Amino acid sequence: MHTIDSKALERAVHDIIFAGREFSSRGWTPATSSNFSVRLSPELLAVTVSGKDKGALTPSDVMVVDMAGAPVNDTRRPSAETLLHCHAYRSRPDLGAVVHTHSLAQTIVSKLFAEQGYVELGDYELLKAFSGTATHETSIRIPVFANTQDMQALATRIGEHEKSSPIPHGYLIDGHGIYTWGKDMSEARRQLDAFEFLFQCELELRKLRR
Ligand SMILES: [Zn+2]
Repeated sequence: MHTIDSKALERAVHDIIFAGREFSSRGWTPATSSNFSVRLSPELLAVTVSGKDKGALTPSDVMVVDMAGAPVNDTRRPSAETLLHCHAYRSRPDLGAVVHTHSLAQTIVSKLFAEQGYVELGDYELLKAFSGTATHETSIRIPVFANTQDMQALATRIGEHEKSSPIPHGYLIDGHGIYTWGKDMSEARRQLDAFEFLFQCELELRKLRR
């Protein structure tokens, strides 16, 4: 039997609704896609329910699930991709928030680099937005995984990848979108913002260098 910390849930709901409005206003959550979560305790997380316009979320659009993705005191369905959120929290005990969006740049970059299997972002000042990075003189590698509707299989594939190559900041799914995270929602939002900007840089550079 799980006990839900009502204060933590209230804060999580606020953070999720705020993030939804921001990401939606920037066009990153088309057609009810995308999902967000916040950790409530070592065993529980608050996550968006399935569907819903992410720019118009209300407190009733957020539900509590355990780390296996099972609803707690709720009969509704969580977001289809909840298992990927659970996987991120289970493998990173310090994680406080996970965000997943489907922006144009994220989707195009995922397709462009799917065959290579990763995107390399190097020598950008904005790399300092990623936790643990203090200089532009570096590069980070974001893996691109093949898309599937089988979230259990995808979580397993990501886990296998992490055994040999840790994924510190996030990953892309081919033709789909990005997952990134942080110790809290503000760090997750900052990383997502940085990814979005750097992906747009890569796409513009590609056009200009032709
Ligand atoms: Zn998605």
